Amino acid sequence: MIIEVAIPLPLEQTFTYAVPERLCQRLLPGMRVLVPFGRRTVTGFSLGPAQSPPIGDTKEVIEILDQEPLFTLRDMEFYRWIAAYYLHPLGDVIRTAIPAGLTVMGRRKQSVASDGSVVDEEVMTSGVRLKEERHYKACGEPPASLKGRGLEILRFIAARDGVSATELRGRFASCSHQLKRLAELGLVTMEMREVYRDPFRSEEFSSDTPHELNAEQSRALAGLCAAMDRGGFTPFLLHGVTGSGKTEVYLQAISHLLKKGKSALVLVPEIALTPQLVGRFRRRFSCGIAVLHSALSPGERYDEWRRIRRGEVAIVIGARSAIFAPLDNLGMIVVDEEHEASYKQGDGLRYNARDLALVLAKQRGAAVLLGSATPLVTSLHAARQGRMAELTLSCRVKERPMPEARLLDQRGRGKETILPPLAEAIAANLTNGGQTLLFLNRRGFATWLVCRDCGHVLRCPNCSVTLTYHQQKRRHICHYCDHSVPAPTLCPECDGGEIGLLGVGTERLEEEIATLFPDARVARMDRDTTSGRGGHSRILRKLEGGEIDILIGTQMIAKGHDFPGVTLVGVISADTTLNLPDFRGGERAFQLVSQVLGRAGRGEQAGEVLVQTMSPDHFAMRAAVSHDYEAFYAEELAQRLDAGYPPFSHLAALHFSAISPKTVEDEAVRGGELLRQLRRSLGLRVEILGPATSPMGKVRGRHRWQLLLKSADRSQLRRLLLAFRGGYTPPSTVRTAIDIDPQELL
Ligand code: ADP
Ligand code: ZN
Repeated sequence: MIIEVAIPLPLEQTFTYAVPERLCQRLLPGMRVLVPFGRRTVTGFSLGPAQSPPIGDTKEVIEILDQEPLFTLRDMEFYRWIAAYYLHPLGDVIRTAIPAGLTVMGRRKQSVASDGSVVDEEVMTSGVRLKEERHYKACGEPPASLKGRGLEILRFIAARDGVSATELRGRFASCSHQLKRLAELGLVTMEMREVYRDPFRSEEFSSDTPHELNAEQSRALAGLCAAMDRGGFTPFLLHGVTGSGKTEVYLQAISHLLKKGKSALVLVPEIALTPQLVGRFRRRFSCGIAVLHSALSPGERYDEWRRIRRGEVAIVIGARSAIFAPLDNLGMIVVDEEHEASYKQGDGLRYNARDLALVLAKQRGAAVLLGSATPLVTSLHAARQGRMAELTLSCRVKERPMPEARLLDQRGRGKETILPPLAEAIAANLTNGGQTLLFLNRRGFATWLVCRDCGHVLRCPNCSVTLTYHQQKRRHICHYCDHSVPAPTLCPECDGGEIGLLGVGTERLEEEIATLFPDARVARMDRDTTSGRGGHSRILRKLEGGEIDILIGTQMIAKGHDFPGVTLVGVISADTTLNLPDFRGGERAFQLVSQVLGRAGRGEQAGEVLVQTMSPDHFAMRAAVSHDYEAFYAEELAQRLDAGYPPFSHLAALHFSAISPKTVEDEAVRGGELLRQLRRSLGLRVEILGPATSPMGKVRGRHRWQLLLKSADRSQLRRLLLAFRGGYTPPSTVRTAIDIDPQELL
């Protein structure tokens, strides 16, 4: 038997191997195999019988590494699509798709057991293992002589079908002595059973009942249910303003789906930030739910994955990588906050989980529900073109009004962190007992250190950014590579003492707020205060419990949280994304401001929002504070049409990086020349921009250059990139990457 094997190395092609007689019986497509590769032995993925006969000598598979397949033929169809679309090696696509830790180089070891039999065991360098635990079962009537704790424990075990050691410990504290005694008396038997590592097992969830839907929600649900009843691929865009009850629609649609015996996949931008959403699912459904959390250990992730594969769960909730969850019987994929850039992976396999949701649903004949208060311009355009059904929730639930929002002109007042109207509003809100959120998209204390004598600025030696001062740590830190230096007291350049800290980060804002409002309970939520598991939920719970008056935070506080007590939202500076060298700057600013202001007035009390900005005349700012998505959409779409950006073109970026600035420049130039030459010879209509240094010209010591390719015709873009990939080999010191549908042009 000759099989096709994908190898998780940066190689475009797959390879063929012969399967020796002794392995033929056990080998199935989707299993990992150990194969010789050059002078190495590597893990590969068996894809099944080879389609074309091998050329030349075929090497043999050394060993099979799995008892059961890791992926199915249907998964393979999805993987192959991804590899072709993103021009990425199939082996690496599979490695990305299956749980981390499984593809480490493994090998099998044979050893001789004490009874002389040969044991075949798998040795993994850092692999994930199954977890096992002792389970006890009762197997006899208690004799009259048994009394006290021993009897109590036996009764406890007898009342159940197998009790784990953990459960017994929880009930009886230490009891190993009694258990040993019971086993000796032949009253209990012990066996090792496989257990799942479940990070949420200890949490208890009360149950809730569905809300009675309002008219718009009902209409949306009816549309979804009709599609699910018909079956087949149907994409929906659920455009609902903040607080309009989108999540309730997801929940009821999924409930309908479960009744049909189907399962649902729910993608969220960042699961650590959405404990509320996960809680709502756990309260609503009694079926198995798997949560693929970014903070799971490889072992926990593997266990969740196996639960899904075995059909023990009907709902999977997770971030980006959950698109690869091995759910059978998929009926619907929900993509919450579909506009979020975090659905796109920034390195390795640069896939976009939002886009892949549509691909997967099409392959499986499932419905897709893309939900957002601020859909991507490209999504709404697709819907208006008839490629998706548009569902709208235009009002908040219970006829709550959208918050009153206003722009505060910051021009010429750069030195004031908080303008007087915002300070007054905070004071008034405190007096009224309302909660305030203050949003600032910059963590740390000050954004840079500057010497007033010589103008020296502290910069990262590895990246083209300034170092951010963190007061608690008394260090200047790079937010890209974590390089840090202790805070100097004199200018490192001229030894002058006149050094100053410019720019405001969340840490400094917290200090200023605490000084301005000494009686307020102030907290901060950013990457520095939320490290460790449960860091986010701890702060969010305090806010929910009314223990915080003013919460300061980065975009973490902008996400879909639902806090009825928040009646004032202040945006300290709305311009950071607006000024990015990226055509999506306006769209990102609109999304961010709309999302942040959506946190206000979600309870009985009306909400107020004040947005400080240097660009009070920008259409994205104006549209965001007047809750006018359509105005934003019309203007943004017109600009995209003008400049030929998506949805009116398709993009791909080509990245080059190297330690030596000269080498990377030379290669980028050479790459650009090759592209233009190929375009000419193939007669393709593709616009080639660059090469140019990337806006972030240096990251972690590597200099970066890029080319941007644009075409109205996706297939022409693809043909050019395929020809380029076939004809270009960079020197070993240069890294290149193709990014299809790039999100960040930095
Ligand atoms: P969104 O996701 O659109 O921002 P949510 O789904 O979080 O909105 O809903 C906001 C709040 O309104 C939640 O507390 C939710 O439980 C509640 N809610 C949703 N639908 C209804 C309804 N039909 N009637 C009453 N309350 C509702
Ligand atoms: Zn750096």
